[in-house]
Amino acid sequence: MDFSSKLLEEAVNEMSQLPGIGRRTALRLVLHLLKQPESQTVALSKALLDLKTEVKFCRKCHNISDTDLCEICASHNRQKEVVCVVEDIRDVMAIENTSQYRGLYHVLGGKINPMEGVGPSQLTIRSLVEKAKNGEIEEIIFALSSTLEGDTTNFYIFKQLEGVNVKTSTIARGISVGDELEYADEVTLGRSITNRIPFESSLRN
Ligand SMILES: [Zn+2]
Repeated sequence: MDFSSKLLEEAVNEMSQLPGIGRRTALRLVLHLLKQPESQTVALSKALLDLKTEVKFCRKCHNISDTDLCEICASHNRQKEVVCVVEDIRDVMAIENTSQYRGLYHVLGGKINPMEGVGPSQLTIRSLVEKAKNGEIEEIIFALSSTLEGDTTNFYIFKQLEGVNVKTSTIARGISVGDELEYADEVTLGRSITNRIPFESSLRN
């Protein structure tokens, strides 16, 4: 791409760093912003910068939160002894949308993926196991997507929980055909949380 302006080129370069944004799309977005009032670009930049510098992670479940303890963990209307293990906030949002789940979450921040250099220590697995050992949890529900990485992560956590007095279950398979949890429709997802199965029996299948 030949740019008549270095400033334009730089903006396009930055924009195209985002996932799913090719250079053509980046150029379209940048030209769009250029046509809008300056206040819009200022507001966008400020929102992104504020997010990056001020975002917090709940000290209990590690979900993105504006407060030290997120709204879900702080709520008195949740079953605190049931914890659903998910990859990130998108899964929390998807499950919350079903209105079928009243427990808490534990956000791992990713899945074990040796190909991308993500090992167990980069995820929040240790704090989950600690909570289980402290007797804070009666049931752990695995709700990672049914991919190789999801299965590997579930199994790793399951092994870490050996000898710990905690029930483990998993949401019914086939809800998302190897795709991410966020795309499962609400009714199916809600039903699979309600009809979850013991984790061990999912291993035999
Ligand atoms: Zn929380």
